[in-house]
Amino acid sequence: MPLNERTLLGPGPSNPYPEATAGLAAPLLGHLDPEFIGVLERTCDGLRSVWGTANPLTLPLSGTGSIGMEAAFANTVRPGDAVVVAVNGLFGVRMCDVAARYGADVVRVDHEWGRPVDIDRVLAAHPSPAIVAAVHAETSTGVRSDIGALGAAVRSRSDRTLLLADCVTSLGGMEMHADSWGVDIAYAGTQKCLGVAPGLAPFTFSERAWEHRVAAPPVWYLDLDLLGAYVRGGTGGRAYHHTAPVALIASLDAALRRILDEGIEAVAERHRAAGARLQEGLQELGLELFAAEGHRLPQLTSVRVPEGVDSAKVREQLLTDYGIEIGAGAGPYASSVWRIGLMGANARLDRAELLLAALGRVLD
Ligand code: PLP
Repeated sequence: MPLNERTLLGPGPSNPYPEATAGLAAPLLGHLDPEFIGVLERTCDGLRSVWGTANPLTLPLSGTGSIGMEAAFANTVRPGDAVVVAVNGLFGVRMCDVAARYGADVVRVDHEWGRPVDIDRVLAAHPSPAIVAAVHAETSTGVRSDIGALGAAVRSRSDRTLLLADCVTSLGGMEMHADSWGVDIAYAGTQKCLGVAPGLAPFTFSERAWEHRVAAPPVWYLDLDLLGAYVRGGTGGRAYHHTAPVALIASLDAALRRILDEGIEAVAERHRAAGARLQEGLQELGLELFAAEGHRLPQLTSVRVPEGVDSAKVREQLLTDYGIEIGAGAGPYASSVWRIGLMGANARLDRAELLLAALGRVLD
């Protein structure tokens, strides 16, 4: 057992909701036990609620957020398909890599890191791509992009292009309306704003995406047809595919209950208020925020390391003296930016004040 408790204020994992921890410790059920099937169905319903979708194929995939990215491309890309990827940070870069491995002809639309996705440039990149992909909440930079506006733009041009959104850092922390935004495929992770340990990738797939899906994708484990036969059942009942991670699903179910009981709007407002206080307090300390104003995520704040300050030493001191974890920057900003998360159970004013007080002392 780890000896030290940490306050996890990095880019994830975050400290889980107490309900999620209790869910993890509940008596283990078999993955075909009728009682567990009830838990699974409620989990899928809860995911539909937080995502704002009626998609029947909405489920927690076994694996971290990246498995969601993998499943998204594995089930939709045919060799030679044009896939436009909006890149404004590390996870956009990763989408290009994953899409290319399934044979996509990737059209990469690079943006300055710290800026949101430019919809006109994305649209101009290709006249009729099979997929347009973008990251809703870019964890590497702390930037939010307008997926609703991107969806409206993509949809107004073609009914054939699928819109894929990475929602790893947004789901559970921001209001989402996947259906009315025109999102066809989306994935998330449990360890951020959903307030659960890492290990599941909530996933949703529209009817339109289903019509365009790849039959028998190259990765058996991520074949949505086979997964659907377990999660949704069918005329022959539920078919075993792989052993579902029952404890993690029970934990996600408990966290979703907690979020829905509090109310999706109230949870989003809690994230907004905590993030706003943190960003205001960091500027009061004389620090400069990295992400473009007006496009900052409340749940993940990127801040520039002041000139002459050793980024790693500050993070180490926060961890050893205060038990607080924050993140280094990503990619080219590894040592010049810090990333501070107030996600899920940590999206609270007292966590913002705690971090500000500790960081203020370390920098003093
Ligand atoms: N996409 C985004 C936006 C992320 O922030 C992350 C993880 O931080 C991922 C994808 C990959 O998720 P995981 O590390 O859970 O596999």
